[in-house]
Amino acid sequence: MSYEFTQLDKDAAAPMPSADELAGTFELNKSDHERTEAEAAALLQDMGFGVKFSDYMAHATWTAEKGWHDKRIEPYGPLSLDPAGSVLHYGQEVFEGLKAYRHEDGSVWSFRPAYNAARLNKSNRRLAIPHLPHEDFVASIVDLVRADERYVPTGEGTSLYLRPFIFASEAFLGVRSAARFEYMVIASPSGAYFEHGFQPIRLWVEREYHRAGPGGMGDAKTGGNYASSLLPKVVAHDKGYDECLFLDAATNTNLDELGGMNVFVVMADGSVKTPKLTGNILPGGTRSSILQLLESQGVKATEETIAYDELVAGIEKGDVAEMFACGTAAVVTSIGSLTGEDFHIELEMGEVTKKVYKDLTDIQLGRAEDKFGWLYRLA
Ligand SMILES: *Cc1c(COP(=O)(O)O)cnc(C)c1O
Repeated sequence: MSYEFTQLDKDAAAPMPSADELAGTFELNKSDHERTEAEAAALLQDMGFGVKFSDYMAHATWTAEKGWHDKRIEPYGPLSLDPAGSVLHYGQEVFEGLKAYRHEDGSVWSFRPAYNAARLNKSNRRLAIPHLPHEDFVASIVDLVRADERYVPTGEGTSLYLRPFIFASEAFLGVRSAARFEYMVIASPSGAYFEHGFQPIRLWVEREYHRAGPGGMGDAKTGGNYASSLLPKVVAHDKGYDECLFLDAATNTNLDELGGMNVFVVMADGSVKTPKLTGNILPGGTRSSILQLLESQGVKATEETIAYDELVAGIEKGDVAEMFACGTAAVVTSIGSLTGEDFHIELEMGEVTKKVYKDLTDIQLGRAEDKFGWLYRLA
């Protein structure tokens, strides 16, 4: 069986103007309090993940009369939001996550930004938020990264993490889709995602709570799904686990995902599986890329229903060799153990996990040929 492109893959393959053609769509409002060179350099010395931000942010506003307008790059800083702003009450919000990478020659690139643009609009549709043209999405990334280029770090595992998001800003307590929205992108220079580097994570198989259910928002990237995953994560952390592995809400038996990362299973025969997209699973760009990459290497990679009890039995019998999780922030993370109320099982970090990580990051960093046309030059 070969990988079938999703609608997002197809949308993302549409032609996109070059960064030079898009540049200037978001007009730069120069800041009078940019960091000095010394302050910016100090920030890059101690990045962490998602805690420090660049000098600028992209911003556009949508109203029914004007559509998306006032596209600008403005100084990074606190927003003024009416306390009745509807996102604060009903959570009408979507977001994205992608990275700008510095290549060895100094140029700056992003990985499949049109996939993020297409997915933002898939999320928009589910949350009754207006469509944002893909060109505007990519232009906002181009203009922000060009204004903040000195914050794109150099060094293994580092990048400028970009967080686009849209929220309902109309001041109105009635329950209906808002008449005003803000689109924004903020940028955070980031070191490696996991504090301890490439170390296997310990998963709690969550059978009490679900992050999403049939007909819900599981395949939209929206804060609401994260909100529902926080309590189970707190409980799992308190028990000593790094993340929850969520099961499908309909049967409570099949693997969904981690609530921020998709999951893959590597069989002892070298074939690879990932849960098929059911509507409750977020269609990860990393997931899509790994499936295409493995297939191009002649590895049998399939999307299927994976029951957790069969998975546990498979690990015990030795049919399952490795498991890993994947997403933009961490790229690929080895899964070191699975635990539930009545089982605990350990897994080795294997060669397939390491190879997938290396092959994907080599493309992202311009060290390997970009056969799929996934890279987009920003600056
Ligand atoms: C963003 C996200 C992922 C991973 O998607 P990528 O495009 O690979 O970063 C997986 N699950 C959820 C719930 C997410 O929000």
